[in-house]
Amino acid sequence: MDKLTLKAMAKINLGLDVVRRREDGYHEVRMIMQTVNLYDRLTFEKKKEDVLQMETNMKRLPTDQNNLVIRAAALLKEEFGIREGLAVRLEKRIPVAAGMAGGSTDAAAVFVAMNRMFALGLDEKELEARAVKIGADVPYCIRGGTALSEGIGEKLTTLPPAPSCHVIVAKPFIHVSTKWVYQNLHLENVKEHPDIDGMVESIRKGELSGVVKRLSNVLETVTVPRNPVIARIKEILMKNGALGALMSGSGPTVFALFDDRKQAELALERLRGTKLAAQSYLTTFTDHTCVG
Ligand code: ATP
Repeated sequence: MDKLTLKAMAKINLGLDVVRRREDGYHEVRMIMQTVNLYDRLTFEKKKEDVLQMETNMKRLPTDQNNLVIRAAALLKEEFGIREGLAVRLEKRIPVAAGMAGGSTDAAAVFVAMNRMFALGLDEKELEARAVKIGADVPYCIRGGTALSEGIGEKLTTLPPAPSCHVIVAKPFIHVSTKWVYQNLHLENVKEHPDIDGMVESIRKGELSGVVKRLSNVLETVTVPRNPVIARIKEILMKNGALGALMSGSGPTVFALFDDRKQAELALERLRGTKLAAQSYLTTFTDHTCVG
């Protein structure tokens, strides 16, 4: 196989709790991860020469070792002594630095693609063991679907698919650094933690109402006060029929859940009218990731 195109899906967090800060500075989390049908497209092409190169439509993204695509490819190339080269074209649609694991899902697609193209024979567990070296969320991005993620994000429990619904994803015109958010999270001041176990129960029972009731992200306590536009977008979506709305990851992307497609379309139109969102999409949950 000399050429392959994959869709690398974005994720949202239906729940995000930070349990504690470890001595080494990492945070232990408990997150409910959900893949959404919003994706980057990656095209992989084998090269005869021993090169590793990429190009992308998103001008401000690095295309060298600072891109997770190159880091993931270099890792497998070195371990397996692959002598042929690889060229990657990345069409970016997932909001960047937005709490949607865009970089992680691109890296996941590289692992899946190279495993197939170079016949490495790695099963999912073996791929995930390598993926975590690139980033804590990369193993989840390989697996996709609905999952409970614990530890620093690498301990994964696959859950049944979350109850289906319509999802608006909206990213305001601001950038938020994940590092800054974690540095400014003071766990001792957090009064209420998300009910992650309750969320898992609701998903297992297939109860959308239980999921909606428990939408909660502890990182909102840091990001939202500094960026009121996030609260504003949530408010607009709630006023326009959303069952619930929440910031994803460390933000600033907001997502909102709807049980009615027409209502969601109307809410999206209203939101676009306010010009508060730089990017906005109407999508759904999906179980698939890194698919052709
Ligand atoms: P997470 O939800 O895991 O915190 P994120 O959505 O906040 O991820 P990304 O979009 O993954 O953040 O990107 C964060 C930074 O990583 C960007 O500023 C960018 O410079 C760098 N980066 C490296 N590779 C990629 C990539 N393939 N796509 C997007 N960003 C990348």
